[in-house]
Amino acid sequence: MSEIKLQCKCGQVQGLVRNFSVGRSTRAVCHCADCQTYARHLDERSDNSGGTLDEFGGTDVLQMTPAQVTFHQGAGQLRCLRLTAKGLYRWYADCCKTPIANTIAPGLPFVGVVRTALAVDGPLDAAIGPVQFYMQGKAAIAPRPGQKIHNGFPVGWFVATFPWFLLGKISRKHKPSPFFDRSGRPSVKPEVLA
Ligand SMILES: [Zn+2]
Ligand SMILES: [Zn+2]
Repeated sequence: MSEIKLQCKCGQVQGLVRNFSVGRSTRAVCHCADCQTYARHLDERSDNSGGTLDEFGGTDVLQMTPAQVTFHQGAGQLRCLRLTAKGLYRWYADCCKTPIANTIAPGLPFVGVVRTALAVDGPLDAAIGPVQFYMQGKAAIAPRPGQKIHNGFPVGWFVATFPWFLLGKISRKHKPSPFFDRSGRPSVKPEVLA
């Protein structure tokens, strides 16, 4: 188990991923149209844009339980955007529009921390493990040479994610969450884009 620092680009938002282990997380790069729309939406609103999407249109996300994520500075900068009324809850830092994390629903022990929020010293793969899955490739803006990209959600992703997700469900690791209060209300009112 280790800790990973969380930080927005400008440094106002700071936090920690606690109890991190490669075996109890999943690292995936998502190329879906929604992740791309979201990243571009924030890029257009920031001065230090870019860095969320790689050259193939992928967003690198480290998935874990919300109980592992805390913020000790700048939590008041967190904002929530949903592309549609039923879309993912996508959390970002308002100060510099850095994508922080995506959640599905308050009751689920699942959060995808976006690479842009991980403040890692040294090689990223050594700290958080290599990318396990390249998914939703049908929306990729270019083929990834030498990489297997799955068109949708690979079965392997479910196989890798289900054990820690189930453990998180049993041990109720959907909370405490920095994103939802005890009754499951988002910590800030989500803005709906569509
Ligand atoms: Zn910031
Ligand atoms: Zn996506």
